[in-house]
Amino acid sequence: MQTFTEELIKRDLNHIWHPCSQMMDYEELKPIMIKRGDGVNLYSYDGKKYIDVVSSWWCNLLGHCNKRINNAIKEQLDTLEHVIFANFSHIKAIELCDELVKVLPKGLEKFCFTDNGSSAIEAAMKMSFQYHHQTGNPQKTRFMALSDAYHGETIGALSIGGVDLYSQIYKPVLLDIIRIQAPDCYRCRYGLNCKNCEAKCIEFAKKDFEKYGNVTCALVIEPLVQAAAGMKIYPPIYLKKLRELCDKYNVHLIADEIATGYGRTGKMFACDHAEISPDIMCLSKGLTGGYMPMALAVTTNKIYNAFYAPYLEGKAFMHSHTYSGNPLACSAACEVLKILREENILENAAENAIYFKNVIEEKFSNHKNVGDIRSIGLINAIELVADKNTKAPLDCKKRTGYQIYKKALEKGVLLRPLGDIIYFNPPLIIQKEDMDYVINAAYESLKEVLG
Ligand SMILES: *Cc1c(COP(=O)(O)O)cnc(C)c1O
Repeated sequence: MQTFTEELIKRDLNHIWHPCSQMMDYEELKPIMIKRGDGVNLYSYDGKKYIDVVSSWWCNLLGHCNKRINNAIKEQLDTLEHVIFANFSHIKAIELCDELVKVLPKGLEKFCFTDNGSSAIEAAMKMSFQYHHQTGNPQKTRFMALSDAYHGETIGALSIGGVDLYSQIYKPVLLDIIRIQAPDCYRCRYGLNCKNCEAKCIEFAKKDFEKYGNVTCALVIEPLVQAAAGMKIYPPIYLKKLRELCDKYNVHLIADEIATGYGRTGKMFACDHAEISPDIMCLSKGLTGGYMPMALAVTTNKIYNAFYAPYLEGKAFMHSHTYSGNPLACSAACEVLKILREENILENAAENAIYFKNVIEEKFSNHKNVGDIRSIGLINAIELVADKNTKAPLDCKKRTGYQIYKKALEKGVLLRPLGDIIYFNPPLIIQKEDMDYVINAAYESLKEVLG
């Protein structure tokens, strides 16, 4: 007899093309049927519990089925589910902007609403391009981005991304991007320590700015953490120096804080570590606590004013998304900010982050295949290598990270490594006993696969 779960799996595979998946892998590892969520836990129909250490793709901030966010959305649902956002408005969008302005880096005051991270990036790119066009610099038509960057999957966002796994095949239709060699602190080419290197590798960016600064409208970056690249972390000084270069060459700095924002790095925004303000900041993921697809491209009055003119001058930003400013998403986002403030989430997370990092280092650092352990906030990443001394990577054909993923699932832990980099990016509310469980399960899984 077929169990209910088996029946669901069959129906799922009949129709659903899952994201970022080789569907043939599902022949062996079936999709896991989740019935409900509670805090850091997900529960399947067959009664198994999974600790969501990746925050369901980095978006769940305050736990699944958080009572306060649930109630905020329920209340909004019975009031107004959606309204056209051109020429119409509503109180939750207004409240959200009022509250966000208080915590955003200085100068970010104008909000463009989109409905996913990639779209916020597209909006930011178009905004920057049009700004320069309308302020006497029509020669500024190009974009800069870092190697190994990730900014989403739409054509523009994919263009500025630098991870071949996602973009290689589409190269013929992608924009021609100026690619700056990114910092690589684990394999630092100068053999320096990122704590006091003064970001010597900024010299690559300098050269590119000298050569292309006058034709570039914006540099798009993931501040401090290149997440999809394998949770690569670089020091704030590098970010500070990028800000200086952007100022010098009249190039916008677009900070993609979609993954790093909302306390992930220990501060509200990664830019806060470097005490810089970008010209445009993109937010999503944690913005609604992982509840609703919504994103923002937040910018300055200076940029906004370059579009402010009599209608017939044709300077308006004619960008739109049907679900711009969706009230349900805004109500979730407002409640998230309230919870962060009222429940001291960042302070508690900072304390737990120290514990998490220490236990991970204790447990993993002596393993023969652990090359690097890096962390910022509650994000911790473990880079597996074939040889600690040479830092040579594991044979990617062996899919070691994927094998570890499967072992951890058996133990009730949702890890989902990036290649051979195991990482932890849990909801900010994770408690010590769950951290302990997760670390042990990850270590056991590692040992089962690599000895
Ligand atoms: C997830 C992510 C995106 C894309 O957001 P989507 O909502 O998936 O389109 C862009 N940039 C970064 C840094 C991300 O982590």
